[in-house]
Amino acid sequence: MIQHPYPWQAAQWQLLQQRLAQGTLPHALLLYGAQGMGKRHFATALVNSLLCENRTESGAACGECRGCQLLKVGNHPDLTQLSPEEEGKTIAIDKVRQLSSKLTISSQYSGYKVVLITPAEQLNIASANSLLKTLEEPTPDTILILLCSHIDRLLPTIRSRCQKVLFNAPQPEQAERWLVEHAGVDQPVAAQLLALAGSAPLRAQQLSEGGVIEQRADLLKMLHALARGEMSPVQVAEREKKIAVADILQWLSGWSMDMIRLHFSAHPPHIDSPDLLDSLRPLAQQVDVQRVYRYFDKLIEANRLLQTQVNQPLLLEQMLIGWLRLFAKRRS
Ligand SMILES: [Zn+2]
Repeated sequence: MIQHPYPWQAAQWQLLQQRLAQGTLPHALLLYGAQGMGKRHFATALVNSLLCENRTESGAACGECRGCQLLKVGNHPDLTQLSPEEEGKTIAIDKVRQLSSKLTISSQYSGYKVVLITPAEQLNIASANSLLKTLEEPTPDTILILLCSHIDRLLPTIRSRCQKVLFNAPQPEQAERWLVEHAGVDQPVAAQLLALAGSAPLRAQQLSEGGVIEQRADLLKMLHALARGEMSPVQVAEREKKIAVADILQWLSGWSMDMIRLHFSAHPPHIDSPDLLDSLRPLAQQVDVQRVYRYFDKLIEANRLLQTQVNQPLLLEQMLIGWLRLFAKRRS
């Protein structure tokens, strides 16, 4: 049972617990921020706290009381969760209507009635408008918690009726420490994972479980072979077909920038892939820097094309051919 928020969520937790203790918790909370920051974890800890009958001093659910027991078996009558039936689908309006009528009945255990809506950006116009009524005329002792990773996709009328709570990226040291403990990696790898994950700790943990560090090292080895003419772009693309093209393009962009940095300085102040430095250094010495700049632009364009109906394997092949050309000898 989730009882505590993540260490980087302490400020948000204290704020809400304070207001809960004072009896001034807003009836609608909008927890927002980029994916991978642990909003769902936080929301679960908060729901458990609200429905616990014997909260600890820090506000954590006790894990023992009747409320906690019901939560553990996923059967608390005062908790309603609204989510799409399937990932990517919208939250249906009849679910919101059912919720509104359920909330008119008082709580089963004379505590809070808690509603968790996730992800809130999946409310379509009709269901959002239906929810508005509930937000405008809240029933007593009701707390609605909305989770959202893309706040710009949420109707402004919904946004303005919720107390917004932002979840930002944690301080790097804090995120690294957590990742070292929870992903079983050492500090430089943790830093590398966080860089790849846009500083989102849970995304970094996912990447680690997916073996991203090894995958990157493997690909770079193959790119060496490509530069030496020992493999063809088609062969590399074939070997890497299980990895998302978007990820490969991101890595190629980082390595291109790193090659430029290493070309001008043996010890550049910043490097995207410190874990692959030994492998990048010799490439940086052989490369034609003007071509790398142009290649970098092409990667940006390729990334944009990924949002369209482009043939992704073909696009990857073209970018690998582009990589090969970075190392081609100039005609004299
Ligand atoms: Zn409890």
